[in-house]
Amino acid sequence: MEVHNVELQISAVAPEQYPTQGYPEIAMVGRSNVGKSSLTNTLINRKSYARTSSQPGKTQTLNFYRVEEKVFFVDVPGYGYAKVSQKEREKWGTMIETYLTSRNQLKGVISLIDARHQPTEDDVSMYQYLNYYNIPILVVATKSDKIPRGKWNKQESLIKKTIGFDKKNSAFQMFSAQTKEGKDQVWNWIEKRMKG
Ligand code: GDP
Repeated sequence: MEVHNVELQISAVAPEQYPTQGYPEIAMVGRSNVGKSSLTNTLINRKSYARTSSQPGKTQTLNFYRVEEKVFFVDVPGYGYAKVSQKEREKWGTMIETYLTSRNQLKGVISLIDARHQPTEDDVSMYQYLNYYNIPILVVATKSDKIPRGKWNKQESLIKKTIGFDKKNSAFQMFSAQTKEGKDQVWNWIEKRMKG
C-alpha cells in the first residue's frame, strides 16, 4: 500500500479508549529493542515516526497508528523488561491479553524476533499464546542484514523449531529495516489480513 498519511490516534491503556472507526487492526509484538519501531517506520516510509525503544518504567500503552484511513498498526509495548515491578508486569499482561483476545478488529499479529539469536522464553510464550487463540501470525525475523544470507535458512529453522512454528496459522518473513528486505512481503501479508 502506498502510505501518505499516518497519525498516532491514541495511546490507550483501557478498552474504552480504543478507536471506534472499525478499521482492521494489525498488532506488532516483540521484546524491546527487537526493531518494532524500525519495522513500522519502514512500512510507512518514515524515518522516525513510531517512537523508538520505549524505556523501561515508562507508562506502557497500546499505541494505535492510523494508516490511510484504512488500517491501524497497534504497537504493543515490548515484553521482557527486567526492571518493572511484578505489579506493573501484571497490569501490562492484563491490558495486552484483553486486547489480543477480545478485539474484533484485530486481524493479525506481527511477532518480531531477532534473526540473529535463538528466540527467548518470552518470544516463545508470546508466539504460543497467540497461536493458542488462533490469531493469524506473521513471524518477522528482524535485523537480517546482520547475518550473512548463507545463514538465513539455518536461522529460520532454529527460530521455527524453538517457537514451535505452526504453519497452519502462521507465516515467516526475514526482514531488515536497513536494506528493506521483506518490506513488500510484510505489506502483502498485512493487506491480505485486512481483507480477511
Ligand atoms: P524497538 O524497541 O523494538 O522499537 O526497536 P527499534 O526499532 O528502536 O530498534 C532497536 C535498535 O536496533 C536501534 O538501534 C535500531 O537502529 C536497530 N535496528 C532496528 N532494526 C534494524 C535492522 O533491520 N537492521 C539493523 N542493522 N539494525 C536495526
